[in-house]
Amino acid sequence: MKKLFFRLFFLVLFFLIAPGVIHAGAEEAGTVTVTHAAVYIRSGPGVSYPIAGKAAKNDTYTVLQKDGDWFQIRLPQGNTGWIAGWLVETGTPSAKQSKQGKITADRLRIRKAPDQSAAIVGTLEKNAVVTVTRAEGGWVYIESGNVSGWADSQYVQTEKNKNAGKTAENNVSAAIVAATSLNIRRSPSLQSGTVATVTYGTRLEITGTDHGWYEVELEDGTHGWVAGFYVTRESQAKRSSEAEVTLHSGTNLYKRPQSGSDTVGTAKAGDRFPIVSEMDGWYKIRLESGTSAYISAKAAQKSDTAVKKGIKGKTIVLDPGHGGTDNGTTGAYGTLEKLVTLKTANALYEKLKKAGARVILTRNSDTYVSLSERTAISNTNHADAFVSIHFDSAEDSHTRGHTTYYYHAQDYDFARLVNNQITSRLGTVDRGVKFGDFHVIRENTQPAILLELGYLSSPAEEKHIVEKSFQTKAVAGIYNGLKAYFQ
Ligand SMILES: [Zn+2]
Repeated sequence: MKKLFFRLFFLVLFFLIAPGVIHAGAEEAGTVTVTHAAVYIRSGPGVSYPIAGKAAKNDTYTVLQKDGDWFQIRLPQGNTGWIAGWLVETGTPSAKQSKQGKITADRLRIRKAPDQSAAIVGTLEKNAVVTVTRAEGGWVYIESGNVSGWADSQYVQTEKNKNAGKTAENNVSAAIVAATSLNIRRSPSLQSGTVATVTYGTRLEITGTDHGWYEVELEDGTHGWVAGFYVTRESQAKRSSEAEVTLHSGTNLYKRPQSGSDTVGTAKAGDRFPIVSEMDGWYKIRLESGTSAYISAKAAQKSDTAVKKGIKGKTIVLDPGHGGTDNGTTGAYGTLEKLVTLKTANALYEKLKKAGARVILTRNSDTYVSLSERTAISNTNHADAFVSIHFDSAEDSHTRGHTTYYYHAQDYDFARLVNNQITSRLGTVDRGVKFGDFHVIRENTQPAILLELGYLSSPAEEKHIVEKSFQTKAVAGIYNGLKAYFQ
């Protein structure tokens, strides 16, 4: 319970801090810019002080004072905190750090000071383009041709504001230890020294990745590395159950599902919130603070991503192994792996397309595509599933059957579900689900598996593999496996 509270607390602080921070400082003081992901802000100048918040990489704060290696900084809410000097870079404010912004509210009031009660120095029309030079406690100082002063930051859209949600998703990524006991190592290698040992279920903040290893941070601030296959990524699990709404500017957020009830604030066009529940013309939504509120369904639009069940709408990347100058393995009768993988992927492509999925092939002809290009296609398209298709070979020509490989622990279930369906459709020897250190699944940030559908080195299996019926059954198996995975 305590842990959950802290988790929510950090999340809340993170969201409060991230969008409001602009890369500029007050004239009189220097600034610090955070150089590491997920840095704790403490209530005093030392790691023994309680955690007062969390900063994201590239956040910039105004420095109030320095004590040893620590900086006291001003937080956007107006209060202060301390940050370690070795996790930041110092700088002086410069005009270059100002940003372009756009007013998103009608007749936005510009004030003399960053305070709701400060004198109004002018108003700005919606869509007016302004220069944002600094930020403070939910306010931004803006300059335009007619007027300069402070505006409520939620009505000023800057590049950073637009991307804030995305950054947050990447930065709040965490991993849950999936091994009974796991060593946190000094560097990303099993030979490296141990800095700490954690037990099953421990939550680790992910601050970086390197070849299947995660750089993590423990709650006490210890940094280290864990092998990716011993942990389950938390952000992936969380993403799937969220629905979103899009609002019009100035939409009221109510305490109760009633137009006359008290409001807890307003939202602007394009804001998105997870839907907690729906009722008669109202959506109950979760705010960034962790509390809930109600918005009228008339002012909101339920986004398509709300529909998470089934294949429809999913982005599925199919990766036919090898291609071009890379033939893959060659069968006893001369079948080229690169051609059967393409045939299988094309047939699966058609079937998934018909079911309404957004399907992307890493290649659709006999061309060479590098392994890193293949994973990049999956990662940049935020694939809901990545399936690499291969055929096997072995010294022993009697070796037969199909194998499903996963790399990251959280993909084990995906692999298992697909493997079960392939087994029931193909009826060939089930060699099971195995951990496999293959580039395309190891370097994949998305759910990824690699299938070896049969042995081309077995003359009997090769004969079977080139038959149309084999292709049909294999495709049906993978399709049903994906269906089961998305259920
Ligand atoms: Zn292969």
